[in-house]
Amino acid sequence: MSSTTLQKAAVVVRENGASRFEVREIAKPEVKPWEILVNITATGICGTDISLAAGHLGPSCDVLGHEGVGRVEAIGAGVDPTVAKVGDRVGVAWVRDACGDCECCRVPAGETRCVEQLNSGRKLDGTFAEYCAVPSRYVLKLPDDLTVSDELVAPILCGGVTAYNALKSCRATPGEWVAVSGAGGGVGALAIQYAKAMGYRVIAIDLGTDKKEYCLKLGAEVYVDAKEDVTALVNKATKGTRAKAVIVSAGSGAAYQNAFDIVAAFGTVVCVGIPPPHQTMTLHPLQFIDKGFTIIGSVTGTRTDTLEALEFVQRGVVTPAIHPISLNELPDVADRVATTTGKYVVRFDQQKVDQQKAEDWIEENAEGKTEEKAEEKGEVKTEQKSEEKAEEEAVEKAGEKVEEKGREDGEVPSKALDSSQEKNNSCCAL
Ligand SMILES: [Zn+2]
Ligand SMILES: [Zn+2]
Repeated sequence: MSSTTLQKAAVVVRENGASRFEVREIAKPEVKPWEILVNITATGICGTDISLAAGHLGPSCDVLGHEGVGRVEAIGAGVDPTVAKVGDRVGVAWVRDACGDCECCRVPAGETRCVEQLNSGRKLDGTFAEYCAVPSRYVLKLPDDLTVSDELVAPILCGGVTAYNALKSCRATPGEWVAVSGAGGGVGALAIQYAKAMGYRVIAIDLGTDKKEYCLKLGAEVYVDAKEDVTALVNKATKGTRAKAVIVSAGSGAAYQNAFDIVAAFGTVVCVGIPPPHQTMTLHPLQFIDKGFTIIGSVTGTRTDTLEALEFVQRGVVTPAIHPISLNELPDVADRVATTTGKYVVRFDQQKVDQQKAEDWIEENAEGKTEEKAEEKGEVKTEQKSEEKAEEEAVEKAGEKVEEKGREDGEVPSKALDSSQEKNNSCCAL
């Protein structure tokens, strides 16, 4: 096979009941007449990818990933030329195709619940590869005037739009309290930022004091430790009115149970996180009858929702916290995805960027040159930066602080899901 027909990809290898990622050279996808070939430049890593790799969500492809951004490389012979042209920037997300004809597709904005939908990494190879072939009818063309970098667009394609869509459907009025449960997780952290940008007052709920600083920095007004008396603390913060909406992004039955106690009269509980099958919640009809609240489910978002969610990033009111890595680093960070604050984003040119940074550093710090260069630029000599410091800064850029603490409240389920969950269309919820 020639190099023009091969590509680098992080593939799932399953052996002896365990799974891991390995970077390999595999065949580049062939473009079918109705498809567009995308050269992926950046892709986020979502908790769902890790669950799929572990087999917790049923059978999957070897190439996962569904927060991909890239450029159109080739267009299938049968594709309407007005859909996209070579070089266009596009997004490749969880829903890769919808049938357009089922009971869900026939409802406006119902495509994300399409019963025939094809998902990245589940039925079609995902974005942990240099190339990805996508059906032209469902490709997300990114607007030409969107100046957000690829690595900041990537996390919005699943985590961001999931958070935004949950808030869009939460029925609270700007100025009212919205509680985000599992606020320190991937979706929760973005939900804090979106909620604040949408004018809500945010109560962040998560486990441990370590998350407090992070959530407050993101824009939460109040932090509640889930180990404490959540109901009392929410009552206190809201002066007894409780939260008009509760976004449960934690994959925890306890978080759901608690949501019914902290939701305001006529409020809304929005289900986003998926607990393991044995973690159910109990409800007595009187709770609904007395308080008149509503429970709804929210799942990713349509392409329109995604473009709206990206507008917030463009305006600078939402900035995903990211850790840029190279594809080669993906196998090493995979088991830290669920416990890391901020999102890992693979940049396919990251190795080149790192190499350039290293070369620049060596040049700038070469003996006798540092002061000379500083003088040339009219700068004062600054402290030499370690690689670690440079990485920290990359995350600080997003207004975040890196913390690698346990995300107990939103743990990836250790047990295999039942058949109904294998079929679920939800993503970014684990
Ligand atoms: Zn459908
Ligand atoms: Zn996802």
